[in-house]
Amino acid sequence: MDDCIFCKIIKGDIPSTKVYEDDLCYAFNDISPTAPVHVLIIPKQHIASCNEVNGENSGVIGHIFEVAAKIAADLGLSEKGYRIVNNCGEGAGQTVFHLHFHLIGGRDLLWPAG
Ligand code: 5GP
Ligand code: ZN
Repeated sequence: MDDCIFCKIIKGDIPSTKVYEDDLCYAFNDISPTAPVHVLIIPKQHIASCNEVNGENSGVIGHIFEVAAKIAADLGLSEKGYRIVNNCGEGAGQTVFHLHFHLIGGRDLLWPAG
């Protein structure tokens, strides 16, 4: 998608701080972190939101959760805990329409979310 900022980040057209990368996904630090750890994990394939997940592309979702657990372990969060968040749609706070999961941790996290 030519006008998608996360596709541009994957291509390297927009700079980002890479945390992890493989054939299927890319992880990088959020530009406006809400916690000491705030990593975004995105599929390399452009999927606009969770609404677009289907039988053809859903394999990457499980992979992303595997990668999230690995990143959390690497950053020392496994024991203390962390949160994986997806905002689907404007009403839920989605601002970038390329599917992404926030991996947030490194501080006490409140629940329920607002
Ligand atoms: P959403 O609100 O869609 O769930 O999350 C989008 C996230 O992308 C926000 O936390 C925002 O700070 C982050 N973000 C938006 N533009 C950029 C950017 O150009 N670079 C990085 N690293 N993060 C971005
Ligand atoms: Zn995209």
